[in-house]
Amino acid sequence: MPEENPPTAETADTPGQRRPATVAVTAGRPAHEPDAPLNAPLTMASVYVAGGDLEYGRYTNPTWTAFEEALGALEGGRCLAFSSGLAAVSTLLDLVGLGSKVVAPRHAYLGSIGQLADLEARGRVTAVLVDIADTDAVIAELDDAALLWIESPTNPALEVADLPRLIAAAHDAGAYVVVDNTFATPLLQQPLDLGADLVLHSATKYLAGHSDAVIGAVVTRDDELHTVLKGRRDLVGAIPGTMEAWLALRGLRTLHLRVERAQANAQELVRRLEGHPALAELRYPGFGGIISIVLAQGAMAADLLTHKTRLWVHATSLGGVESTFERRRRWKTEPTTIPEGLVRMSVGIEDVEDLWADLSSALDDLA
Ligand SMILES: *Cc1c(COP(=O)(O)O)cnc(C)c1O
Repeated sequence: MPEENPPTAETADTPGQRRPATVAVTAGRPAHEPDAPLNAPLTMASVYVAGGDLEYGRYTNPTWTAFEEALGALEGGRCLAFSSGLAAVSTLLDLVGLGSKVVAPRHAYLGSIGQLADLEARGRVTAVLVDIADTDAVIAELDDAALLWIESPTNPALEVADLPRLIAAAHDAGAYVVVDNTFATPLLQQPLDLGADLVLHSATKYLAGHSDAVIGAVVTRDDELHTVLKGRRDLVGAIPGTMEAWLALRGLRTLHLRVERAQANAQELVRRLEGHPALAELRYPGFGGIISIVLAQGAMAADLLTHKTRLWVHATSLGGVESTFERRRRWKTEPTTIPEGLVRMSVGIEDVEDLWADLSSALDDLA
């Protein structure tokens, strides 16, 4: 039955005015036309009939486009999806000119630091690693830098960068700024609004959110950067799988609910963990779903903990609906400035009482 007073063009809300939860649900949908599917279909195609805009499956795909529209709307820019977060990192670092200086956090995603170290070893760039929470120290390194790479909060130390000051200082020095926004998600931090040139995501984590897809993305407001990145993606083929883009978009529809719940659970767990005798340190930036704890009795206690629980799963990665944790120094390449007994916890969306019962009984056994 038609509405008696359908909204006019003037009174109907426009997508640009919608709030993040509504954007997460509505962006990247087909137009509301009779018989159109509500959701972007999974378009499995390597080639399209010539004469249109699509042409070939390495250039574009309608399912990627739907995911890119949704994430672009959430971050407030134009999005390009990549085969993984690290494919996006690699594509961005490839834009930096030969011999350029790149300033980056000493604690950051291992693959990002690893790529920088690899580029430096091959004489491509000079990498300067900094404590990203020490704003003055970072600014002091920006002279002649081509790129400031920011991750905030950092993995797994959970240091928080002063984004507005760092971005402004980098631009004064003539450097581009990339912010890896994987831990915060666009719901808790919008770097483009703070002036960043590029936002990077491992959509594998919170955006897809169900531990079932590896996919990355870059978002920018700069049309020129977008064109250059699209050109690089076409050329090197660092494209997402169609199924992965579909899964990531499916996940994105509930991002706000999952982030809200994971954050509420994390905040409650932090309250209960404070002062626990088994812990030497408790790190939490005040927002988000990641907590890092340092076991007072070091590596062995941390390993015991991650093998004692029944609900918490010993696994790397983060941002899924299920709670996972791991001792980070089990990775040989983890910086030695990360304590041996540090366990990074990715808090999921289960009932917090069950999470606490499982965790606290394992911790009490250690204390
Ligand atoms: C996982 C992760 C990456 C790499 O993403 P992949 O999708 O695993 O390639 C980059 N940055 C951060 C902060 C991550 O957590």
